[in-house]
Amino acid sequence: MKKLLALFLSLALIVMACPTACAVEAKEEEAWIYLEEIHAVDLQSYLPNARFNLLFASDQNITGRALYEARPILEEKTAKKLLAAAEKFAEDGYGIVIYDAYRPMSAQWELWEIVRDAKYIADPNDWGSWHQRGRAVDISLYDLETGEELEMPTPMHTFDAKASRFGDCRKQWTEAAKENSDYMTRVMLSCGFETISTEWWHFQYTGRSYSLPTDLDLSLVVR
Ligand SMILES: [Zn+2]
Repeated sequence: MKKLLALFLSLALIVMACPTACAVEAKEEEAWIYLEEIHAVDLQSYLPNARFNLLFASDQNITGRALYEARPILEEKTAKKLLAAAEKFAEDGYGIVIYDAYRPMSAQWELWEIVRDAKYIADPNDWGSWHQRGRAVDISLYDLETGEELEMPTPMHTFDAKASRFGDCRKQWTEAAKENSDYMTRVMLSCGFETISTEWWHFQYTGRSYSLPTDLDLSLVVR
């Protein structure tokens, strides 16, 4: 009788626990299906010479805490273009530093709550950004020989006018920063990326198709 009671209790516990466990499993399943659909690529095993400093996966960002799991993924079509760029950079003696790639919608919301200026963070109420579609990267470059990062106009993710490619702010950039960011931009444009006016570090591949924004929980798809 005691054994039966114990069995009943453990079954009851399983049934009670299932909604949470099953929801997590369903979310994980959904995430994997999405990653398969876009042919997601993990840049860590895809890009030669790349370095990773995913600021939004650390406390080194405007929120002071990690907004997602450190897994730099991109849609395959975009990753291929980045690979082409990485090869061109390598010929010139440089490697890419990745500061952000796929950024879930939940992270976009957290940034929006602080910045609240669509010039510097795409409004999640509206459309979000190409980061939520796995088609945007925030990058810099480093010297393959010395390992030193190249001088660029500003620190990453300033969320203000200083990083703008045009206007008075650009006049404040050093000559070396202008030269380095212009070189990086030329190579990225030649590989099919587009720029945005407000951030020297941001490159995106929009193509013709408009995929939906997503909110993958990257901690569920880290293997
Ligand atoms: Zn960006």
